[in-house]
Amino acid sequence: MPAASATRLIANGRVWTGAAPRPGIELESTAIAEQGGRIVAVAGIGELRRRYPAAAELDAGGRLVTPGLIDCHTHIVHAGNRAAEIERRLAGESYESIARAGGGIVATVRATRAATVQQLIDGALPRVDALLAEGVTTLEVKSGYGLELASELRMLQAARDIGRLRALTVATTYLGAHALPPERSGDSEGYIEQLCRELIPAVAASHLADAFDAYCERMAFSAAQVARAFEAARTHELPVKLHADQLSNMHAAALAARHGALSADHLEYTDAEGVAALAAAGTVAVLLPGAFHFLRERQRPPVELLRRAGVPMAVATDCNPGTSPMASILTAMNFAALEFGLSTAECLRGATAAAARALGLLESTGTIEPGKWCDLAIWNVAEPAELVQGIGMRPLHLRLWHGRPDR
Ligand SMILES: [Zn+2]
Repeated sequence: MPAASATRLIANGRVWTGAAPRPGIELESTAIAEQGGRIVAVAGIGELRRRYPAAAELDAGGRLVTPGLIDCHTHIVHAGNRAAEIERRLAGESYESIARAGGGIVATVRATRAATVQQLIDGALPRVDALLAEGVTTLEVKSGYGLELASELRMLQAARDIGRLRALTVATTYLGAHALPPERSGDSEGYIEQLCRELIPAVAASHLADAFDAYCERMAFSAAQVARAFEAARTHELPVKLHADQLSNMHAAALAARHGALSADHLEYTDAEGVAALAAAGTVAVLLPGAFHFLRERQRPPVELLRRAGVPMAVATDCNPGTSPMASILTAMNFAALEFGLSTAECLRGATAAAARALGLLESTGTIEPGKWCDLAIWNVAEPAELVQGIGMRPLHLRLWHGRPDR
C-alpha cells in the first residue's frame, strides 16, 4: 500500500472543530482520520476504528485539539531593526513624525534592499519559529520593504522559501503600495503609474505573490491611487487586501469592499458606513492589536458594529520591525480580547476560520472538517480560554501540518 494512503487516527482529544459559526466554544470528544495529509473523517473513535481497521493512532491524551492557528497579516520578512524608534516614541515623538524624518518603513527599506534572499530568510526564521511554537500552521507574509522590482521579488522569494524550509503553508502578498520609495519622494502619482504599468504585471508574471496589498493613509497613498493599483492587480488576477483606516478615516474599508477585497486590515477609524460595506462585500476585518499597543493608540476598531453586522473578524500579529515587533499569535489574541473586547471564542475563530477566509484559504484549512488539510494544534490547557488569557505560557503540546506531527 503506498504511504500516501496510510491512515492515521487522532484519538482521545477534546476537539474544537471551529466549523459551526456559533458564538461559544463547543468541545466534542470526537476523533479525526487523516490520509495523505488531509482530513477524511471526523467521527467517534469506535466508528473510525471500524472504518479504518489498519490505521495508526496518535493519542491526544485527553488534550484540547484545535485547527492549526493562522497568522493572516505579517511583515515577518525584513532586514535591519528599528529599536531606536522606541526611544524616540517614549520621548513623545509620533510614528508619523518619525516616518516623515526618514525612519519608519523607509528605514527598513534601506536595510532590506541591501539584503540577499538568504539573509532575509536567516533573519525571518527565528520569528517564524516562534509562531510555529504557538501552533501556527499557515502564515501570510507581505513584501513592501523593497519598493522596486528586484528587492520586492527577493522578499517574496524568501517568503516562498520559508514555506519549503518549514512544515508550514505560506501565503505571499505583494505590498507594492506600502510607502513611496525614497527616490520617488514627492512623486506618488508617478510611482502609482509605474506600479500599475510595470511592477504589478512583473510581480504577477513571477507567480511569487498570491495577493496584492496597499496602505491607504495620509502618509502613504490616497484612496484614488489605491483604486488604480487595485484595478491593475485584479486585471492580473491578484486578489486584493488593504491596510485601511489605521490612523485616520480614509473611507478605506469601503474602498476595499468596493474592490471585492479579501480583507481590510487595522480599521481603527472605520465608521458605520465602512462596516456596512465590508458586510455587504463579505470582506474580512483583520484586527491588529499589536500595532495599536506598540503605537499606544487610543482609537479602537468598531468591534461592536462589526459584530452586529456579521463581518468575520480575524486577529493577526502584523509582525513588523517598527509598529508591531511581535512574533506571538497568542499575544495578539490576548490583546484582541483585552484591548478590543473580543470574546475568547472570537479570538480563536479570528486566528483560525476567519484568518483562513482573509487569505482565501477557507476551502483548504482553518477548521477541522473532511476534505481540508489536517492542520492541527494540540494544547496542554484545561480550557480553550487559557489560550487567550495567558502570555508566554508555551501551551502547545504538538503541531500537525498536513498530517505530519512536528515530532
Ligand atoms: Zn501591516
